[in-house]
Amino acid sequence: MTNFTGNFSDVVVLAHEIGHAYHSYCLRNEKMINTDYPSPIAETASIFCETIVNNALLSILPRDQGLSILEKSISDMGYYIVDFYARYNFEIKLFERRKSGQLSVEELNELMINCMTEAYGDSIDYKTIHPYMWMNKVGYFMAGDEFLNFPYSFGVLFSKGLYAEYIKKGEEFVSQYNDFLSASSKNNIFDIAKTIDIDVHSIDFWENALNLIQNDIEEFIKRS
Ligand SMILES: [Zn+2]
Repeated sequence: MTNFTGNFSDVVVLAHEIGHAYHSYCLRNEKMINTDYPSPIAETASIFCETIVNNALLSILPRDQGLSILEKSISDMGYYIVDFYARYNFEIKLFERRKSGQLSVEELNELMINCMTEAYGDSIDYKTIHPYMWMNKVGYFMAGDEFLNFPYSFGVLFSKGLYAEYIKKGEEFVSQYNDFLSASSKNNIFDIAKTIDIDVHSIDFWENALNLIQNDIEEFIKRS
């Protein structure tokens, strides 16, 4: 179920959910026990579908309208990659320090500020960082759901990397992508990616993914 009012952001949500549905569709011939996939892959098909819709819209919309699409897409990337990196670091450091006892509110605030400063660098004024972000994100309080944001960061970069392959290979990539999604419930990410000639340990693969985001930023600057 989704609230659809016709706004662009609703279209993106729909594209995202259709991506999930398409992933499930590719697993339709699997036994029930093989319809679940590892969490890093969970957000791949959804974000891939968002990228398809965004790029299709960018190619037909007038310059100024395309600008808002790019702006939203770049902001989302900042959120998924930079903010989630801060949260990832926060959890790593929190679990480490928690081994020797509870942390006070002041210590949690300080940890949050340090992790966000590290992730955002000089791109924001550190005085504007919200020290209570650890309180405001429900994921930190869900036992058993540690690193809840990681699949999104991985999914964003991995699906961008897949999209870069699609741009390179064109039509040939489509059946590979379907095979990849169908195999996603029975292998780990390294082995499934290998079936479509992608090495997830290759730095190039991830740099190609980041290059697509950089292209969006350059296109945004050109249009604005
Ligand atoms: Zn999702």
